Amino acid sequence: MIAAEALSKSFGDVQVLSGIDLAIHPQEVVCMIGPSGSGKTTLLRCLALLETPSLGCVRMEGQIISQPDQTRAVKKAAQSMGRDIGMVFQHFNLWPHMTVLQNIIEAPVRVRKTPRAKAVAEAESLLEKVGLSDKRDVYPARLSGGQQQRVAIARALAMRPKVLLFDEATSALDPELKREVLLVMRALAGEGMTMVVVTHEMGFARNVGTRIVFMDEGAIVEEGAPRAFFETPQTDRAKRFLRQFE
Ligand code: ADP
Repeated sequence: MIAAEALSKSFGDVQVLSGIDLAIHPQEVVCMIGPSGSGKTTLLRCLALLETPSLGCVRMEGQIISQPDQTRAVKKAAQSMGRDIGMVFQHFNLWPHMTVLQNIIEAPVRVRKTPRAKAVAEAESLLEKVGLSDKRDVYPARLSGGQQQRVAIARALAMRPKVLLFDEATSALDPELKREVLLVMRALAGEGMTMVVVTHEMGFARNVGTRIVFMDEGAIVEEGAPRAFFETPQTDRAKRFLRQFE
């Protein structure tokens, strides 16, 4: 579905990612875990086309959509296929001057050219799905963090993405609010949504993830099935990382 190939990323002299190869298949829930500063967010942002790789490329369904030299063909592919990549951020990033409904229909109406009435109907059903039908006409500032994040998920889903990327989507939330967002994410996984999830929630990674990717110092150090990874990690670095959650 989407893949990083030999992807490296530097900011100035600092190399943050080195030679990442990662292919995400349909209906996978890939959980990316690892110490803070290991490059997880940067890799996710490269997949979301929010950062350009310094070396290597990102492919979607086989086509290059991002590479250091953004040729016209690559830009064109990014423009059309990029719409199929949804992203949910740590700090929600809702538009504060728009109501919940307006936040959700904005991109479908403007980018996908969905007729407004149809976009509204879809938004209403997405709000029902994330349990916020009664918040349709309120502004984000009136919502709790957990509610804002559920709106952000509905907003991402409104574009009917083929893959949904989550960047520490629950890190800014109190435990009770984390739970309501994680339940929505779990339900999406259950419906077969293809997801890449950067997370510190080991319970979610273990129970909902279909594959764990463990990163350290800008590289993928270990990956595998959740149960195998958590019960019998192979590398010292993964063992050391997991010890803090015991
Ligand atoms: P993680 O998500 O695993 O915590 P990040 O991808 O956020 O890791 O960061 C990896 C490293 O890249 C960190 O050392 C961070 O300071 C650095 N970094 C991230 N974004 C930038 C940037 N825009 N400019 C400079 N350095 C950055």
